[in-house]
Amino acid sequence: MLKTYLNNVKLCLKYPFLFKGTLKETWLDSIEDGWRRAFGNQLLYDLKEVINAQYKELKRNSVHVKKSDLFTIFDLRTYEGVLKFYALASKDVSEVLKKYSQLSKEYCHICGQPVKYKHKGFCNIMPIEYVCKDCFNDYLDEYKFSAIERRKLKTTCRAYKRKKKEAD
Ligand SMILES: [Zn+2]
Repeated sequence: MLKTYLNNVKLCLKYPFLFKGTLKETWLDSIEDGWRRAFGNQLLYDLKEVINAQYKELKRNSVHVKKSDLFTIFDLRTYEGVLKFYALASKDVSEVLKKYSQLSKEYCHICGQPVKYKHKGFCNIMPIEYVCKDCFNDYLDEYKFSAIERRKLKTTCRAYKRKKKEAD
């Protein structure tokens, strides 16, 4: 527990926008494992860069703001298979958030590999998901779906198709 606290203190000192009002967890914990693995560090880095640049620019023009005025997270969750931020965000920060929401469709949220399938979800019981081939098969094995059902449930993801086309 102490180790988690200390890690979270370090993390929040470096990226204050991750502070969630407690040291038990940070907003980073709300991002799914695969995405954290695939682009977590880059996301944090980009956000920090944008916030700092904008903050400096505003200060130079004698505009008094706090960094938290440029970016404060209210909620962060996976919505319809996509990483979604609910936040007070400046236009520049919003651009970064939008970019990573889009990018979350390209990396498996479970393991971080490139996405192959969009799992269309099923009657609110199963959520929409963007997953790699391995995780898709694991998932369906677990639920013992037939081959026909499998075909109905999935569509090949657009990002995967695009990359494949580029490679050909
Ligand atoms: Zn996966």
